[in-house]
Amino acid sequence: MSRFMSSRFKTLEPYVPGEQPSGQTYIKLNTNESPFSMTGDVIEKAVRLARPYRLYSDTQCTELRSALSRVYCVPPGRIMVTGGSDEALDLAFMAFCSDDVPALFPDITYGFYKVYACVNRLPFEEIPLRDDFSLALSDYAGKRGTVFLANPNAPTGIALSLDKIEEFLFSRPDDVLVVDEAYVDFGAESSVPLVAKYPNLAVIQTFSKSRSLAGARLGFVIANEELIQDLNTLRFSTNPYDVNSFTQALGAAVLEKEEATRKNCLTIQQNRAWTVEMLSRLGFKVLPSLSNFVFARSDRIDGEALYLALKEHGILVRHFNHPRIRDYNRITIGTMNDMKSLENALKTILA
Ligand SMILES: *Cc1c(COP(=O)(O)O)cnc(C)c1O
Repeated sequence: MSRFMSSRFKTLEPYVPGEQPSGQTYIKLNTNESPFSMTGDVIEKAVRLARPYRLYSDTQCTELRSALSRVYCVPPGRIMVTGGSDEALDLAFMAFCSDDVPALFPDITYGFYKVYACVNRLPFEEIPLRDDFSLALSDYAGKRGTVFLANPNAPTGIALSLDKIEEFLFSRPDDVLVVDEAYVDFGAESSVPLVAKYPNLAVIQTFSKSRSLAGARLGFVIANEELIQDLNTLRFSTNPYDVNSFTQALGAAVLEKEEATRKNCLTIQQNRAWTVEMLSRLGFKVLPSLSNFVFARSDRIDGEALYLALKEHGILVRHFNHPRIRDYNRITIGTMNDMKSLENALKTILA
């Protein structure tokens, strides 16, 4: 650290992204990317339709918002597009938390929530999940603050039903609920239909997982117009050109391929069922996942030892050094070939 680093951030612990090794040396089951590539025609279309690069990108993301409006049956005024959903989350922390409105989120969840609370110097409380990693809404009762829930949760994969989310919104009309639906397309129920009814709900989604565009950095928020305005106030105070012209065109082009997206998500769900069965057969305990990953542990091998052994076998998974989940690894669901390679490696390691 230089002596010029702001005293505000001297102790800031940044988010640690999953490994992104260069080259194709590993089977990557560590960052929940899609194993399916965007087809060439989508990219060609985006190249053709992108606004000239000489000009600044459209800060309103007009075309992309209309496309999202069609797919999600939500008026464009209730949609905001961001540079990845991470940016949307950062804006939500800035917009909806303050010295007297803390951020509330589970102790085991997406690591970025804590980082966003810290970098924005906001008070926060981590509310422990139950022993089985389920979330009990009653644990939030009586606590005022803006709640951030990943649904399905990461890295557990466990989802809350729409009924539970609605119960939550109904019981906390004076607090904002931010639902991070990065993994919702793999079998969970989306809260988007509740936006029309609850002015305190913001749903955040991403093109990174189900739509195979992690590298494009594209996310969006669906919320009541007033919440969208608040988020835009922060967006226009930080980076209004956050989504470049090519990415906007790419997002609109991929939304014309909803059938392909749904088919990919279905394949992931089938491969997930196979993987859960395979892991259980090998003696793993696997949490019930509705995501494109599973969270699993074995009594026969320590979590970190397994992560390292798989890496030796050319397979990357994600291990978290948190006391409650140290025994587990998060394994992204890939192609059947990927999952069969995983099975072979596990059999060798456990033998
Ligand atoms: C991957 C992920 C995101 C980030 O998505 P981007 O759109 O790529 O920034 C957000 N929330 C959760 C829970 C995630 O796992």
